[in-house]
Amino acid sequence: MAERNPLVIANWKLNGGIDLLCTSVAAFIGKHFETDIAICPPYIYMRDMLNFLQHSEIIVGSQNISKYASGAYTGETSAKMVKQAGGGLCLIGHSERRQMFGESNASCQIKVNQALEVNLMPILCIGENLQQRDAGVTKDVLFKQLEETLGEIECSGEQLCVAYEPVWAIGTGKAASPDDAQNIHAYIRCQLASIKGEDFAEKVRILYGGSVNKDNAADLLKNKDIDGLLVGGASLDAEHFMQICKVADAN
Ligand code: PEP
Repeated sequence: MAERNPLVIANWKLNGGIDLLCTSVAAFIGKHFETDIAICPPYIYMRDMLNFLQHSEIIVGSQNISKYASGAYTGETSAKMVKQAGGGLCLIGHSERRQMFGESNASCQIKVNQALEVNLMPILCIGENLQQRDAGVTKDVLFKQLEETLGEIECSGEQLCVAYEPVWAIGTGKAASPDDAQNIHAYIRCQLASIKGEDFAEKVRILYGGSVNKDNAADLLKNKDIDGLLVGGASLDAEHFMQICKVADAN
C-alpha cells in the first residue's frame, strides 16, 4: 500500500498583518516534523514568510493562482511567479473563490495544469454546500468537481492533493464527524480510481478541511483515507496550530 505522508496546511485567507502571521508559526523554527506542514499567507507576505521561516521545514504556498501564464491581466499572479518566489504549493478552487470570485470547475482545471507545468503542487479544494447536502446530492457534486477538473489532467497521484471541504463546515465551528468525513474521503478515493486509475488514487493525499481544531484533529486523522488537514481559523492561533501539527505527527 502507498505511504501517504500527512500534510497539514494553514489557510490564512485575508488576514494579517505580518506580525500576527509570524507569531502564528514562530515556534516551528528549528523544529523537525515528520508531517509535511505548509502555510498559505496572502501573496504579498509569501517572501516575508519564506525569509522568516528559512530555518524551518515549513512549506510556503499561495491561496490561489491565475489561470493565465502571463500578459495583460491586471491584479493576477501566475503559478510561475509563485514558484519563483519560493512557493511549493497552491490552493485551487477554495469554496470562497467559487462562491465569491466565480471560480468554476473549468477554471480550476486550467489552474491545476498551470501549477503542474511549473512543478507547483496544486491542492484542489472540493465540497458541497448546505443546500446540496440537504438535497442528498453531495456525492454527485463531488464527482462532478473531480471529473470536470481532473478528467483530462495528466499527472501522478503524488503531484497533487485533493482537499475535501464541506462548505457548511468552513468557519462555522461545525466540522464533519470523523465517520462522515472518512466515508466521503473513501468515496473520493474510489471515484479518483475510476477517473485517474488505481495507482493515482492510492498515492493521492486527500485532506479534510472545515472547522478543524486542536480537539477534533486526532479523531479526524485516525481515519485511513484522511491524509491531512486544511486549517483556516485555528491556524492563526499559534498554540492551536502547533497542537494540530503535533497530533498529525503522532498519528
Ligand atoms: C478553510 O477556509 O479552508 C477552512 C477550512 O476554514 P476553517 O478551518 O476556519 O473552517
